[in-house]
Amino acid sequence: MRRMKFKVGVALLMSLMGATSHAQAPATLTLTRLDCGKTTTLADISRFSDVAAFPGLSIQLTFSCYLIKHGNEYLIWDTGNPMATGATPAPTAPQSSLIDQLSQLHLKPEQINFVGISHYHGDHVGQVASFPQATLLIGKGDWDAVSDAKPNPAINSANFSAWISGGGKVEPLPGDKDVFGDGSVIMLNMPGHTPGHHSLLVKLKEKGAVLISGDLAHFRENYATNGVPTFNTNRADTLASLDRFKQLATNLHATVIIQHDARDIDKLPAFPASAK
Ligand SMILES: [Zn+2]
Repeated sequence: MRRMKFKVGVALLMSLMGATSHAQAPATLTLTRLDCGKTTTLADISRFSDVAAFPGLSIQLTFSCYLIKHGNEYLIWDTGNPMATGATPAPTAPQSSLIDQLSQLHLKPEQINFVGISHYHGDHVGQVASFPQATLLIGKGDWDAVSDAKPNPAINSANFSAWISGGGKVEPLPGDKDVFGDGSVIMLNMPGHTPGHHSLLVKLKEKGAVLISGDLAHFRENYATNGVPTFNTNRADTLASLDRFKQLATNLHATVIIQHDARDIDKLPAFPASAK
């Protein structure tokens, strides 16, 4: 009888300790900006506006990717431009690969649990094949296009062969996705630029909420005026997504980062430092 009481007491104590330590230690969350291509100046931005806004405006476009550390788990958000190949490399090719940048953080590609892709355009999926062991998180509309038996050649299907072949885990997302299950990192369903386009919300402890655009907007002028690029797949969806994103930004007092806008990038510390 005494032994039984002791056992029950120990079990109760352990469960209380477990509950306490769990409540006191949410997973540490950090956000690190990665370089995913050289900044370029666009003198002709006519294709970024289907209402011929901004004649004569030139814009500095940059290419950025992000590393989110959640406890011992990692998410890469977007994989940028491909590395230079051939005799005439693209002027926007990155100087340093994602793998090289991760190695500076003492991380191996096998440690990346998730690769989140905002959308299927080439400057966001250029290095996705470097992470075949990661679970691919991608909007269902984009996954359907990428994995189509006869994909559009403009959609970079070959980059996804590890997952299309059935070798890698993929989660096509019809809506939002709470990546780590605790509400701290959420892929937001923001269709319109492409059918399955997503943005990313990261709720940091010190910096607060950070909203990372994907290509919901490419630069501040288009974001401010609800501009729609000529090459988006759905105009009405784009406007609805912009409305949702802006209301979230207001309600969460979020820092908004437009991934392609060179002026937005300094809202996060320079690599290898991270926001907390
Ligand atoms: Zn795009």
